[in-house]
Amino acid sequence: MSKEKGLSLKQKEKIREKLMEEKEKLFLQENPIVGNLNVKDEMSDEVDMATVDLTQAQILRMRNRDLFYLKKIEKSLQHLDSEDFGFCEECGAEIKFARLIARPTADLCINCKEDLERDEDHNIMSSKSKSMGEAFKQMQI
Ligand SMILES: [Zn+2]
Repeated sequence: MSKEKGLSLKQKEKIREKLMEEKEKLFLQENPIVGNLNVKDEMSDEVDMATVDLTQAQILRMRNRDLFYLKKIEKSLQHLDSEDFGFCEECGAEIKFARLIARPTADLCINCKEDLERDEDHNIMSSKSKSMGEAFKQMQI
């Protein structure tokens, strides 16, 4: 597991910007009400809704898929400063900057990602509906 290269600070800043952008989109486009609340700094990686002043109705507006993605964004933002960021969680290979810009929440390299998708095809796709499986896949990229 070589960690000699990794991302430059400049690249990490670009990814941070991208992650913040994704988060904004999630709040403002998908959830106009949530977007108006001052919750962004309160969010932990657990996205503990008890600490956020949202009504039940507002929480319901936030789809599971969005919450899942939000968690991933938060996780990536926290992870960004660590030396491990930009390396595959499975095999430790470097994740290409281009891939991280396209998918800033990516935590697997292409190879491991493809392996995972093959597993998902067998495990998840068979037990859940197709649309659920697709949503799950998208979030994992
Ligand atoms: Zn890998």
